[in-house]
Amino acid sequence: MTEPERIPLSRPSITEADVALVTDAARHGWGARCYEYIEQFEQAFAVHMGVRHAIATSSCTGALHMGLAALGVGPGDEVILADTNWVASVAPVLHLGATPVFVDILPDTWCLDPALVRKAVTGRTKAIMAVHLYGNLCHMDELLALGREHGIPIVEDAAEAIGSTYHGRRAGAMGAFGAFSFHGSKTLSTGEGGMFVTDDPGLYEQVLSLSNHGRVRGQQRQFWPEMLGFKYKMSNLQAALGLAQLRRVESLVERKRAIWQHYVQALGEVPGLSLNPEPAGTRIGAWMPTVVTAPALGLPASGLLQCFARANIDARPFFAPLSTLPWMPANATGSHARSVHERAVNLPSFHDMTREQMDRVCATVLEAAGHA
Ligand SMILES: *Cc1c(COP(=O)(O)O)cnc(C)c1O
Repeated sequence: MTEPERIPLSRPSITEADVALVTDAARHGWGARCYEYIEQFEQAFAVHMGVRHAIATSSCTGALHMGLAALGVGPGDEVILADTNWVASVAPVLHLGATPVFVDILPDTWCLDPALVRKAVTGRTKAIMAVHLYGNLCHMDELLALGREHGIPIVEDAAEAIGSTYHGRRAGAMGAFGAFSFHGSKTLSTGEGGMFVTDDPGLYEQVLSLSNHGRVRGQQRQFWPEMLGFKYKMSNLQAALGLAQLRRVESLVERKRAIWQHYVQALGEVPGLSLNPEPAGTRIGAWMPTVVTAPALGLPASGLLQCFARANIDARPFFAPLSTLPWMPANATGSHARSVHERAVNLPSFHDMTREQMDRVCATVLEAAGHA
C-alpha cells in the first residue's frame, strides 16, 4: 500500500499578485522609497482595524514587548494572563523583569476566565493580557469593565485573531493596544512580522520611538537616541507582501472559516467531540480549527495524534500550560488548562486545502473516536 499524501498543518496562501508586489519592492523599494510599502501597509492595516495608529514590527513578540514597555511594565509588576498560551505572550513580560500571574482558562473558549482574573488582581497588577486563543474570543466586556474599575490596562494579543470580531468590534482594537503576528503559520503572512495597533496617541508616540532605537520623531540631531529602545522593525519587502495579503484579507479569513465550518458540520454533532465555539454576537477568524474530546470518550490527544501520524496528517498538540515549563517562575493554576491540553488537537487548515483533504482529516477523527 502506498502511503497517502502528506497533509500539512498550515502554510500561507500566496498569489501572483502577492509575488508581483514583493518583486516591485525588491526592484524599486530602496533609497528614498525604502519605507513606501511599510507606510502603506501600516495605514491600510489601521483602516482595516478601525484604529488610529499602526506600527509594523518584526514580530508579534516584539510588538508585545514594546507595548508593555511603553505601559511601564517592569520589575515588581504583575501581568495577568491565561496559563494556556504560546510562550511568545509571556516572554516579553519576563524580559521586562515583571512577574506573570497565570489564571485558568474557561473550558469552552480556552481563553482566560474573567472571574479568576478578578481574584488575581493585586496592587501590583500592571496589565491584563487577553490572548484570543486560536482565534476564539476572550470575554472582553468583563475584562474591560474590570480594567476600568481598577485602572488597569487590558492589552490584546491578537496574533491568532485577525478576522475575529466581538459584538462588532475587531479583536485587537478593543484594549489599550493590540498585537498581531504575520508569521508563516498565521492567517495573513509576511513570513515573519507583526503589527502594533492603538488608539492612544501617547502610547503610539512612545512605541514609535522605542521601535526606532529610542529615536524620537522630530529630533533634528541624527543618530541621537533619547532612551534605550528596541530594533523590532519590519522590512519594506515584508510590508509589500503584507499589503498584498491585506487587500484580500476578507477572503483569507473566509477561507479559514469555511474550513472550520466544514469540520464543525462533520464532527460537531458527534457525541464527545467539540470544536472552537462561536458565541452569539461574535465572529471567529478560525485561525486554528481545534477538536476537543470529552473525557468520557476515552480518546486522549496523544492517541488522536498517533492516528493522525499514521494517516500522514500533520495535526498538532494543543498548547500545554505555561506554568508546567520547568523554568517558568510562576504559579500553577486550576484544572482546565491541563485537562484541555490532554484532550485537544489542532487540525490542518491551510487556505488551499481541498475538500478531499478535509474529508481525510474528518475520517481520521471519526475512526479514532469509534464512529467510522
Ligand atoms: C504566533 C503567536 C505569537 C508570536 O508571534 P511572532 O510573530 O512569532 O512573534 C504571539 N502570540 C500568539 C498567541 C501567537 O499565536
